Amino acid sequence: MLEWPDSDYEPDPVSKPIVVIGAGIAGLASAWELARRGAQVEVLERGTPGQEASWAGAGILSLLLPWNYPAPLRALTEHSQALYPDWIDAIHKTAAIDPEYRRTGMLIRAPYDRAQAETGFAGQAATVAPAALTGFGPGLWLPEVAQVRNPRLLQALLEGLRRLGVTIHSEIGTISLTTQANRVTAAVSGDRRWPADQFVVATGAWSANLLDQHAAGLPIRPIRGQMLLYRTEPGRLPCILYEAGQYLVPRADGHILAGSTLEDVGFDKTTTVEARDRLHGFMSRLLPDVAASGPIRHWAGLRPGAPDNIPIIARHPILENLFVNSGHFRYGVTLAPASAELLADLMTGKTPEPTLRLFTWPDIIRAAPV
Ligand SMILES: Cc1cc2nc3c(=O)[nH]c(=O)nc-3n(C[C@H](O)[C@H](O)[C@H](O)COP(=O)(O)OP(=O)(O)OC[C@H]3O[C@@H](n4cnc5c(N)ncnc54)[C@H](O)[C@@H]3O)c2cc1C
Repeated sequence: MLEWPDSDYEPDPVSKPIVVIGAGIAGLASAWELARRGAQVEVLERGTPGQEASWAGAGILSLLLPWNYPAPLRALTEHSQALYPDWIDAIHKTAAIDPEYRRTGMLIRAPYDRAQAETGFAGQAATVAPAALTGFGPGLWLPEVAQVRNPRLLQALLEGLRRLGVTIHSEIGTISLTTQANRVTAAVSGDRRWPADQFVVATGAWSANLLDQHAAGLPIRPIRGQMLLYRTEPGRLPCILYEAGQYLVPRADGHILAGSTLEDVGFDKTTTVEARDRLHGFMSRLLPDVAASGPIRHWAGLRPGAPDNIPIIARHPILENLFVNSGHFRYGVTLAPASAELLADLMTGKTPEPTLRLFTWPDIIRAAPV
């Protein structure tokens, strides 16, 4: 397993004005980390903050079959998981909003590659789940897996940022960048301009659109995910259940999410009957009594898809004061604290460790499209 180089980590102070574009989890977590380090931060959002993929997700704080992913992504994930409790605590205390971080564990039902799982996950998983899960097994039990209620985390981050003095400009329309030589001079929308010393693009599935002629091969594209929501009594499902690409996620108040689809349909957020039937069929097989009353809500979100689920957390190859924190695909909520930390390190001139080379732009340019 790769070591994360943070044993003596000390944040560097940042003091120059920074504009973060995009108010999803990636942009808000970036703004939080930069503001925490003393930067003067403004966030620009074309619509309502926190209403796109970050709202639509399930809030599972883990790779779904962790052993299937490249080592650097696993290292970033494990570091993020380690940061999560303190990160949430600080946001909760600052904002006085509880994002409902809970270590509920995840049960992975067959089929899965048992040998690969046990080799790649030694010490963190058990093949025997607790008695409370008897009705849901057999499967591989990952007791450390946590979840967060992502819409509440977004609300908490927004409120926390306001209390830290960060201005969030919302409903300002689509933003573009003006440049001079090899620098960005301002973010622009209509006749409004936001000059700054450094800029962060965190516009999720729309990152290449925002960069436009400066996209430099950024391989991020929308991948739609649909979700159903059910309501039952609290505690009916004690943990996250995963089976063959689909999952159920129980919230503390009795809501249960059933997800999700992976659809390459461009910037189309409509929901479909096919997806509803498939997810409802999954729910009906695992929790027929809860499924019987039908889903109370059905929605879709657009994930920022990137090859091998490797995010791009990097300085732009040409525009020296422009950074990207995007392409987290299926795991943007999981990866938020570690990605923001890595971004802030890059912005203060720290050289990433060799284990993080895969997140840099040149590697991404060489990678095949999604
Ligand atoms: C169904 C589903 C389930 C998921 N489940 C999980 C999960 O369990 N765990 C997990 O870790 N992840 C999960 N994800 C993935 C996760 O939600 C995403 O990786 C993450 O939300 C991406 O965050 P983001 O901030 O990059 O993008 P977004 O949340 O989409 O935010 C981008 C923001 O940028 C704004 N924007 C776009 N263009 C512009 C512009 N030109 N100017 C200004 N603003 C702009 C948008 O309006 C938006 O607010 C799931 C996603 C989906 C859809």
